[in-house]
Amino acid sequence: MKRIYMDHAATTSTDVEVVKAMEPYFTLKYGNPNSVHSFGQEAREAVEEARGKVAHLIGANPAEIIFTAGGTEADNYAIKGIAWANQKKGNHIITSKIEHHAVLHSCQFLEKQGFKVTYLPVDKYGLIDSEDVKKTITDKTILVTIMHANNEIGTIEPIKEIGKVVKDAGVYFHTDSVQTTGHIPIDVNDLGVDMLSMSGHKFYGPNGVGVLYLRKGTKIINLIDGGAQEKNRRAGTENVAGIVGLGKAAELAEKRLAKGTEDRVVKLRDKLIKGIMNKIENVRLNGHPTNRLPGNANLCFEFIEGESMLLSLDMEGVAASSGSACTSGSLKASHVLLAIGLPPEIAHGSLRLTLGKDNTEEEIDYVIDILPGIIEKLRALSPFKGNWKGLN
Ligand code: PLP
Repeated sequence: MKRIYMDHAATTSTDVEVVKAMEPYFTLKYGNPNSVHSFGQEAREAVEEARGKVAHLIGANPAEIIFTAGGTEADNYAIKGIAWANQKKGNHIITSKIEHHAVLHSCQFLEKQGFKVTYLPVDKYGLIDSEDVKKTITDKTILVTIMHANNEIGTIEPIKEIGKVVKDAGVYFHTDSVQTTGHIPIDVNDLGVDMLSMSGHKFYGPNGVGVLYLRKGTKIINLIDGGAQEKNRRAGTENVAGIVGLGKAAELAEKRLAKGTEDRVVKLRDKLIKGIMNKIENVRLNGHPTNRLPGNANLCFEFIEGESMLLSLDMEGVAASSGSACTSGSLKASHVLLAIGLPPEIAHGSLRLTLGKDNTEEEIDYVIDILPGIIEKLRALSPFKGNWKGLN
C-alpha cells in the first residue's frame, strides 16, 4: 500500500540536499568550531555560513541569530530570559490562549515565580485582536508573545499590527514562527518583532536544531549556562551538522518561496478542503478561511472522534493528526479548538491534514475519495449520533 504523508505541521522530511550538506560534518569535517586548528576553523566557517543563510531568510543581521536545540528551547529562552532580565521594570506578560505548549508552559512556570500572565482570547477564526493587546498592556508589562501562525488551525496572526502596538508601548515582542518560517515570507523588521523562534524540522531541515532571532540591544538572561559559545548567549558545543542543515534548509526555503512552491501547496489545500466539504455533511473548517498556513486543513466532523479517524486513515495509508489526544485513557480536547469556541464534543471530532511540497494532486484525490466512506462507517458506530446541534 502507498503511504501518504499529510502531517507536515508535526514534522517534515529532511530534504536530500540538506542531508548531503550535513554529511561531511559527521565524518570528515568533525572539528569543534571553538578549536583553533584547521578542523575547528573549517567547522566554524560552516556555522557562520549557516548563520548568514538563516539571517537572510528573515531579514536579520547574522549577529542576531542564536542557534538552539529547536523551537521549544527558543520559546523558553525568549520568555524566561526576558522575564528574568526585566523583572525590575515589571512582572506582566501577555500571550494568547492558543499558543504552543512551549510558550504556555513557559508562562505557567513564570506564574509560579510570581509573574502575572494575561492569556488573550481569540475570535472564532483564532485571530487575536491588536486592540485587545493595546488595552491589556500596563506599565508593568515587559513582554508580549504571540505566535505567527497556529500549528493546529493554521490561522496567521496580525503580527505586524500587533508589533506596532507593542513597540509604541516600549515593550519587548516575541513571536513563535515555528510554523511559518520557510513557508511564508518573513522580515523581522517589517513584522516589528524583537525575538522570533524557528525550528529546522518544520521546513525540511533536521530535528533538534532551531534559532532564536534576538534583536540587537535586547536585554535578556541566558537559559543555558556553560561555555562562551554563541557569543556568550547559549552555551554548549554547537550542533555543527544540524546547524549546517538548518542553513541549507533556509537557503532552499528562500528559493522555494521565490519559485511559488507554497502557492502550489495552497491550491492543493483548497482543493482538499473543498473536496471534503462537498462530499461530507456536517463538517466545519477550523481556522481562518483564507488567512491560514499554506498546507493547513483542519476540519471537525460531527458525531465522531478524532483518534478513530486517524486510525482508519492510517489503515488506508494516510498519516494525519487530530486535536483530540488520548492521554492516560481519557480524551482531552485541544485548547486551541476550545479557545475558538467549539464545544468539547465537537472539538473531539477534529482532523488536521497538513500538506507539504511533495504532496501530489493524486494524493489529494485519494483522500477526498476514501474519507467519506471512513466517516460514514464511524458515524454509523457513533453513540452520539443525533445528539449534537448543527455546525457552523
Ligand atoms: N511552536 C510551535 C508553534 C510548534 O508547532 C512547535 C512544534 O510542534 C514548537 C513550537 C516546538 O518546536 P520543536 O519541535 O522544534 O521543539
